[in-house]
Amino acid sequence: MPGFEFFGEEERKEVNDVLSTGILMRYGFDAARKGIWKSRELEQALCIRLNCGYAQLTSSGTSALTTALAALGIGAGDEVIMPSFTFVASFEAVLSVGAVPVLVDVNDSLTMDPVSVRKALTPATRCIMPVHMCGSMADMDIIQEICRDHKLLLLEDACQSIGASYKGKYLGTIGDAGTLSFDFVKTITCAEGGAVLTNNKNIYTNCDGYTDHGHDHIGNDRGAEQHPFIGYNYRISELHAAVGLAQFRKLDSFLSIQKKNHLFLQAELAKIPGVKFRTIPDPAGDSHTFLSWFMPSQELTEAVVSEMKARQIFGGNFYWFEHNWHYIRKWDHLKTDKTLNRLNSDQITAVKKLNTQDFSRSDEVMGCCISTAIGLSWTEDQLREKASGLATAIKKVLASASPQARYNQQASLA
Ligand SMILES: *Cc1c(COP(=O)(O)O)cnc(C)c1O
Repeated sequence: MPGFEFFGEEERKEVNDVLSTGILMRYGFDAARKGIWKSRELEQALCIRLNCGYAQLTSSGTSALTTALAALGIGAGDEVIMPSFTFVASFEAVLSVGAVPVLVDVNDSLTMDPVSVRKALTPATRCIMPVHMCGSMADMDIIQEICRDHKLLLLEDACQSIGASYKGKYLGTIGDAGTLSFDFVKTITCAEGGAVLTNNKNIYTNCDGYTDHGHDHIGNDRGAEQHPFIGYNYRISELHAAVGLAQFRKLDSFLSIQKKNHLFLQAELAKIPGVKFRTIPDPAGDSHTFLSWFMPSQELTEAVVSEMKARQIFGGNFYWFEHNWHYIRKWDHLKTDKTLNRLNSDQITAVKKLNTQDFSRSDEVMGCCISTAIGLSWTEDQLREKASGLATAIKKVLASASPQARYNQQASLA
């Protein structure tokens, strides 16, 4: 899954190109940089490979989300609908532009449940932000239909799903804008970085200025450029872009390794009655970064987690229900409004409401889900060992399950 497993000569070569001139900044210094523009090159490569009109690199996936929201004109008083299962960056970005995060349930696709989205619509809703979690996609046809019916903006958080697609279109290129992350544990890494993707020239132009203090980037004298609006500094450096460029060229090989390992593991677990898999709206578009599977009940899931920990095979597996960073249950800092600087009053009201909101539908899904990260560097032996370790732990738990748990298991099979 993470590109850092395959860091090598290719990355070093690109970085050395930049070091050879010492021009570490992506803008300006035209003569001194001797034609080396790694950020531009990576942006072009993203557009070509992902079949997208425009790409704007940023300093992180989080700043890509912030940039995209700002470029879409989302701010004070606007509500952004997002799922209860995502990385904290999703609500951080919404709060950072002054907007209100509205959290909705996820279903067994591990992405936002369209029924819950419809229920969450209010006159203040401006944007729907599906998060394509764990390498696979939200149900985009239905989400796009809701956006059309209610004239809402669509921002896709594809930070975990580079290279995955839905009905032939790459995730992140379907909505008004989409984001990618290249942080250290993502499929493509450059240490820290991200990108906003869009097919809309105005949105792109907004991103271009917003990430660089509002610079309009017209002319060739940086100091004399105009500032049509206020921006911030979310620039990527040439060193980071250089690593990203080498990594991005490896995307196809990463995807094919992931697919092979994922399909093998899945076939092994599929032999166990009681184990089910995540719903994938377009299975052909899965990027296979994770295999996400379900036990018949929360009790049995917890038992499998304990069994795997006891066998010291839990590393690389995630029980998100108990995770501090990816699920609403443990986001106490959000729910109790723990910020260093004051949020606006709409935001304070919204985050406090999360304490009493019913997330039982998400709990039902997340309480039974384990995601297995798919390694890129596993050998054949290691892959087989992973599969048999998982299967043994699961079977042991199912065999010793209480009569009630076994009843639930049968009910879920029926
Ligand atoms: C990683 C991630 C981000 C943020 O990316 P960073 O580059 O770490 O800031 C945003 N959303 C999701 C779903 C992510 O997994």
